[in-house]
Amino acid sequence: MADRLTAAILAVGSELLTPHKTDTNSLYLTEVLNDLGIAVAFKAIVGDNRAELTAHVAHALARHRVLILTGGLGPTDDDLTREVVAAHLGLVLEEDPAIVDAMERRFASRGWKMPAVNRRQAMVPRGAAVLDNPHGTAPGLWIEHGGPASAEAAVGKRIVVLLPGPPREMKPMMDGEVRQRLGAIAGATRLHRRLVRVAGKGESAVEEIVQPIYSQWLAHSPMIETTILAGLGQVELHLVTQAEDGASASAALNDAVSELVAALGADLVSTDGAVLEAVTGDLLSARGWWVAFAESCTGGLATSRMTDVPGSSAYVERSIVAYSNRAKSELLDVPEALIAEHGAVSEPVALAMAAGIRKRTGVNVGVGITGIAGPGGGTEQKPVGTVCIAVDAGDPRVRTFRFPGGREMVKALSATWAIDMLRRYLIK
Ligand code: ATP
Ligand code: MG
Repeated sequence: MADRLTAAILAVGSELLTPHKTDTNSLYLTEVLNDLGIAVAFKAIVGDNRAELTAHVAHALARHRVLILTGGLGPTDDDLTREVVAAHLGLVLEEDPAIVDAMERRFASRGWKMPAVNRRQAMVPRGAAVLDNPHGTAPGLWIEHGGPASAEAAVGKRIVVLLPGPPREMKPMMDGEVRQRLGAIAGATRLHRRLVRVAGKGESAVEEIVQPIYSQWLAHSPMIETTILAGLGQVELHLVTQAEDGASASAALNDAVSELVAALGADLVSTDGAVLEAVTGDLLSARGWWVAFAESCTGGLATSRMTDVPGSSAYVERSIVAYSNRAKSELLDVPEALIAEHGAVSEPVALAMAAGIRKRTGVNVGVGITGIAGPGGGTEQKPVGTVCIAVDAGDPRVRTFRFPGGREMVKALSATWAIDMLRRYLIK
């Protein structure tokens, strides 16, 4: 931790702890910090409470070189940020006549007299730099504590930045003077990232494969940190490294990604962040193939997802939502007898749907999806979540799934798996 340039963010304000007001400032601050190559190690929302705020400031400064606080710089009694920070750092607060003057002029320009309570906002911890606030009364504050906080400085040097709560006041300040000052400290350091997408395995199964690999990267120079994010039927691996030299960071990340590629095999979807639908589309394009979908329980969702990708008109030919048995027979030539024998949710019917749409349309590959999305319609043999998916380009494949969750989740998982089965068919 000590040699890395990390930041903490505290969003101050009791209203941010209610369901009525969301902390958006910290997201903006994170974006700017990351852009400067500064990783955010933690953020917290703290109510207007002296003890809580003091504890969080102490925690942040014990561990991180940069602390940014927003909110609580106002003129009222519950605005504590300035006092708490000064007290924690042992800095006396002194009234800055220039700030009083600017505030008085600001009020006067609107024909008002400045209320006495606003003088609080002119209190500046000794040694702090005042950050102009052209959009409001409370100026921001930049405090360098414990000596110069250069990139080379020893542990112990700290930067504390106090910004107003209203986003329209906070943003210009962060984007102007604070960005400039932080940029000088961060130097050439940047965050470099890679996003690796995986399908066909759950989070824990992916973790089992990749944990022994990425745990090694923590000892690398530059160190690479990995985060696993699970979605419906898909997993994301986020790799991030902090480095001054972009070329060596890139090389390190490339090596790391290669290790994942080797370990994940066909479950690997992309190493450049491309989504499953786009990757599958590219595979179709590369072959010059057209696909058509025959969807029952997904109601067109798989096709909808595929057509979220710009340019998909070059490979998605059509989709037929054949929800009833009659539609499956009339539109896809699924024999009524086949449905009667095996049931509408069965591998033979999924195969017949894929083959039917392929034959009717003359496309290269057909996909058939039939299942029980629930909540009704399940049986002991075929419970809710039973879904059969077939992909047919002359050498058909079919699989039966038992998806968990409610109707929406079963539909979503069915669509994802249908597209992923198509992808796997295309890479074989
Ligand atoms: P003021 O001088 O306006 O009182 P302040 O620094 O004291 O400024 P707060 O009183 O904490 O700021 O917040 C003022 C308003 O700014 C809040 O009511 C809220 O609408 C908005 N705000 C504060 N903090 C945040 C945040 N973290 N994310 C989004 N909006 C915020
Ligand atoms: Mg306030």
